[in-house]
Amino acid sequence: MFSNSDKCSDNLLSFFNSLPQIAMLLTKDMQVKHINKKGQEWLTDIGLNLVDTEEEHYYLNLLQDIGSNAEQIKLLEKKIKNLYKNSEEEFEEEIILEKPEKKSCYSINASKYKEFIIILKEDITEFKKSRERYQRIIESADAVLWELNLKEEEFEYISPQAEDLFGYPLEKWNEVDFWQRNIHPEDKKRVEEERHNIIHSEKDSTIEYRFLTNDGEVIWLRDSVKMKIEAGEPVAIIGVSADITDEKREKKKLETIFKASKNVSFVITEATKEREEALIKEFSPGAEKIFGYKREEVLNKPVSILHSRKDVEKFAEIHNQLAEGQIWEDKVELIRKDGQRFPALFTVYPFTNEGEVERTLGVSIDITELEETRKELEKTKNQLIAILESIQDGISVVNPDLSIRYTNNTMEDWYAENLPLEGQKCYQAYHNRHEPCPVCPTLRSMESGEVEKEVVTGLEGSDIAYLELFSYPMKEKDTGEITGVVEFVRDITERKEREEKLKKAMEEAKAANKAKSEFLANMSHEIRTPLNAVIGFSEILKDELDKNEHQEYLSTIITASDSLLSLINDILDMSKIEAKMLELKEEYFNPNDLLAEMKDILTYKAEEKGIDLFFQTVQEDLKIKFDQNKLKQILINLIGNAIKFTNKGYIKVEPKINITKENKLELEIIIEDTGIGITEEYQNQIFTPFTQQDGESTREYGGTGLGLAITKKLTELLGGNISLTSQPGQGSKFKLEFKDIDFIFSEDKGKLSNEMINIKFAPANILIVDDMKYNRKYIKDQLHKLGLKVFTGEDGQKALEILKEENIALILLDLKMPVMDGYETLKEMKKAGYQIPTIAFTAAATIEEKEKAKSAGFNGFMTKPIKKSNLTEKLASFLEYEKVTKGTDESSEEKAAEVDISEKAAKELADKFLADSKSISQVVVLDETEKFIARLKNFAEEKDLEIIMDYANKLEEALDKMDLVEIKETLADFIDLIESSLK
Ligand code: ADP
Repeated sequence: MFSNSDKCSDNLLSFFNSLPQIAMLLTKDMQVKHINKKGQEWLTDIGLNLVDTEEEHYYLNLLQDIGSNAEQIKLLEKKIKNLYKNSEEEFEEEIILEKPEKKSCYSINASKYKEFIIILKEDITEFKKSRERYQRIIESADAVLWELNLKEEEFEYISPQAEDLFGYPLEKWNEVDFWQRNIHPEDKKRVEEERHNIIHSEKDSTIEYRFLTNDGEVIWLRDSVKMKIEAGEPVAIIGVSADITDEKREKKKLETIFKASKNVSFVITEATKEREEALIKEFSPGAEKIFGYKREEVLNKPVSILHSRKDVEKFAEIHNQLAEGQIWEDKVELIRKDGQRFPALFTVYPFTNEGEVERTLGVSIDITELEETRKELEKTKNQLIAILESIQDGISVVNPDLSIRYTNNTMEDWYAENLPLEGQKCYQAYHNRHEPCPVCPTLRSMESGEVEKEVVTGLEGSDIAYLELFSYPMKEKDTGEITGVVEFVRDITERKEREEKLKKAMEEAKAANKAKSEFLANMSHEIRTPLNAVIGFSEILKDELDKNEHQEYLSTIITASDSLLSLINDILDMSKIEAKMLELKEEYFNPNDLLAEMKDILTYKAEEKGIDLFFQTVQEDLKIKFDQNKLKQILINLIGNAIKFTNKGYIKVEPKINITKENKLELEIIIEDTGIGITEEYQNQIFTPFTQQDGESTREYGGTGLGLAITKKLTELLGGNISLTSQPGQGSKFKLEFKDIDFIFSEDKGKLSNEMINIKFAPANILIVDDMKYNRKYIKDQLHKLGLKVFTGEDGQKALEILKEENIALILLDLKMPVMDGYETLKEMKKAGYQIPTIAFTAAATIEEKEKAKSAGFNGFMTKPIKKSNLTEKLASFLEYEKVTKGTDESSEEKAAEVDISEKAAKELADKFLADSKSISQVVVLDETEKFIARLKNFAEEKDLEIIMDYANKLEEALDKMDLVEIKETLADFIDLIESSLK
């Protein structure tokens, strides 16, 4: 290869071969002259063997062979040529060789030696890789790396993150004073001093300072710096600047918490080798407050002075846990400066360094109050439970999903078979069901949020037959959300049994009372008839007896009978009310007329006692629709009592009317007296039957004690209310109040009633069914006058026959008939498909009868004797009609017919009845009177004399009641009629 004659070459060769790097010699024309040992090994390594071929190689070709790219070859060629031209002494270049297989990086060092160029090649692949790695690390770090040349005060290097972090372009950093300019003015002086110290002490160090970014933001920087020393002289500072703004902020925050938390103690300790002997390094103001020590007193003292012995024993355990990086937390007992012990919640955080706990932060909260509250709560809870457990009723708390949360002893006793109850669904534990009960007050109360109640059947196989269940919803105070239901369960078996017994007894008593009342009411006739006879005949006898003594006896009989009659009348009234046998008879009347009538009747009595009786009147001129007779009875009772119990002063009757709606009003009547008054105690029972005020001699005032009881019942029957205020010795005030009364102003009513009387019906067929011939005839006549065609039948059978033949528009049906009564007839009619409106009429005018007729399907109800005006009014609601103006011939004719009889009839009447009438009116003989009435009735029917029939009926009624006075008066009228008709 090389010529051996060249000595210098030999020396060079041996040096060349001993080089640890790859080296080769090139000729001027770039032929490889020689490759050293290392180079040959390398070539063998990459699969080329130059030595074996003994060929001289053109170096650049060689490079191509081992995979350098064209660009690099060109560059090398240029550089080598420059070497030859002497323009360069040596050069250094890095090339990348791609072959064989692996990519490698080499550095080439070329230098000129005589005619040869020596190329030294070094494999720097690894170096380059690590260099790139460091670069990447530096550039991806969160901090900025820099090197400041101290001689020129220039940045040799500054990592590119500086742009992101500070916002200034990198070039800026070498502007004069750029860095110093942007240091926070407050920190500038300190930083300058510290820098000076660092340079002179040549020690590694850190500086923290604030720096202004290009965005105008102030950030905190921490510079960690290292001096670069060359030849014993500091030449540069190498530093890393990190943004510690967040860290500073967090620290500040912690510091604030540390200082500001007055009720939390923060203690920082530092561990020593002896674990218990960790020393206090920081003591927060909160700790000062809680423990009573000043910070200075405890700094560097062992932390065990704050802990009880029991806690100190746990220190090793705590330390172990902290060493594992865990937080330790528990309740502990701490000791104040004054020796007082207190419970606290204690948390310890470790600060570790390389697995060693260097410092700890202990946070403690004094829970003395909390503990006390908890104890109080516990006490209250125990008390509550004791109360719940002592209650005999069952108590159970149920969750919204119907699972049982709590039960008391009673519940557990009752449902002992299903223990434990808690956790089970209530329907399962208490009712052995698999799904909620269909009737459940607890579910209801969860929905409604209200207390719900239910009585349920009791426990199977026990003597508890009934349970009463109250479900109280438990609500969240703020949100109102229902968090459960408290169930109170009470055994009401006994109560139920008592109630049932009581109910039965009440029913029995009611039934007995009703039977009694019915009996009494029905006895009316039987009791009054003989009594009337006693009174009547006593009076007759009085005229016949001469002896004074006998006269006196008779007077006594009459007085006694009178008071007996009034007592019986009261009892009968009461019984009728109780047996509901009284019917309301409403008609329009002017209340002032009624008051005037009262005045007429009662003034005389008042005058007798020398007291004044004032009647006020109603201002409005109107008529109310009301039961006049019952109101009369009430007023007579109250005003009568007032007169009876007043000896001086006055009695005032004060009516008041309040119109509430267009046709409705309220009526109030006050009866005020200045009499003896009624004690408060007695006021409460005054309306109870048979009660009279104590100490009052019945002799003095008389009476039965039934009057006010009847008055109250009647008032209530009329839908009203009676109340009383009274002062003993000063007087009494009874107040009657009635609501919702129909009314009309007087003029209107006049019109209406005239109109009602004077109407003419459109032609229609009416069927009258009554077993009494007279009744049929009477009604038939009335209906004829109203322009209606009438068919009659004496029983139901007959009625059905007529219905088959005729087209009937309305039926008037008597309820009591032989063969087929009213109810049966109606039933048969309905069966046969007739839909004709039917009005029932009967003499038994009780409410019960009326109700019975209504439910049987009658369209109307009338009481006998039937008044013409009532009949017209009733028919008008079923038939078509037109109004006939007042004063038509027909009506005046009719009027005359009602009062007059023909002379012919009068003569006949005089012949047959005048003598008898006179004799009976002198002395009423029962048998004779009865016969007389029967004859009169026959005559009236035969001659079709309505007015005579009326007299006969009136006499019969009076005879029924044994009312001799009425018989006499009626007969007198009758005689008058005959005599006046004869003239
Ligand atoms: P009597 O038939 O006994 O009057 P009442 O039921 O009418 O029966 O009255 C019962 C009792 O109430 C009377 O006996 C009397 O003691 C008392 N009383 C009723 N009205 C008055 C009144 N206006 N002043 C004082 N006491 C009265």
